Amino acid sequence: MRIINLDTITSCVYEMLKEINSKVSCKTLCALKEAANKEKSFLGKVIINEIIKNDELAKECSSPICQDTGIVVCFLELGNKVFIDGNINDAINEGVRRAYTDNFYRKSVVKSPITRINSQDNTPAIIYMKQTIGDTLKIKLMVKGAGSENMSKIKMLKPADGVEGIKKFVLDTVKEALGNPCPPISIGIGIGGDFEKAALLSKEALFLDDASKPEEIITLEKEIYEQVNNLGIGPMGLGGSTTCLFVNILTYPTHIAMLPVAVNIQCHAARHAERII
Ligand code: SF4
Repeated sequence: MRIINLDTITSCVYEMLKEINSKVSCKTLCALKEAANKEKSFLGKVIINEIIKNDELAKECSSPICQDTGIVVCFLELGNKVFIDGNINDAINEGVRRAYTDNFYRKSVVKSPITRINSQDNTPAIIYMKQTIGDTLKIKLMVKGAGSENMSKIKMLKPADGVEGIKKFVLDTVKEALGNPCPPISIGIGIGGDFEKAALLSKEALFLDDASKPEEIITLEKEIYEQVNNLGIGPMGLGGSTTCLFVNILTYPTHIAMLPVAVNIQCHAARHAERII
């Protein structure tokens, strides 16, 4: 049994948050550069180049990419041979507290959705944990802004709606969002499971992990990518051929009479990373 102490987890979360708040994911930056070359609209091209300049400046100065430094979402994969002597949630929240306080990131979390009183330290994070085999702890962190999260949707489709129903729901969601989620966006899609499982898959899909997937899912991702980019919403919603950079689908077995579909939208400020302790 390997012991991982709470301080190690807190320090790891702290460093990860410092990094991701000022550094857009490598995949996103590469995709933005590619999109800047391909974008058909003059204004769209200008906007993408401004986004890239902003991202590079943020990295250089260790400043936040965006004023909305978001709510912290954390996916943990805890090996069965790891012993954690204490409360792992507290260790993660301590990392969030220190990172947001020391670096003067905007505190965006309210203690209650009704009273709306700010927690003053951006805690608590939203934490999910699953068990894996091994002696490591994987920490996947994301900083999620409200502009994109608020445009995300879930729908319980009927199995008869099929693939066409899934595509229509995703396209309707993006059409309704327009420029609100600060395009170019990434689209995480969760299909299957039940109501909450689909939502969780759609969020985890935004980590853009390179997992192998069935041919029909790869085809569906490509079709949705093409159709979304043909909508003409464009960078920041001001028109153009680049509305989305990535479409990533995760699936899970479901009930014979269900077809849950969740769409989680990520803005151009895609801030996420993972570490293995
Ligand atoms: S949607 Fe993203 S880029 Fe737009 S304001 Fe929110 S965090 Fe910033």
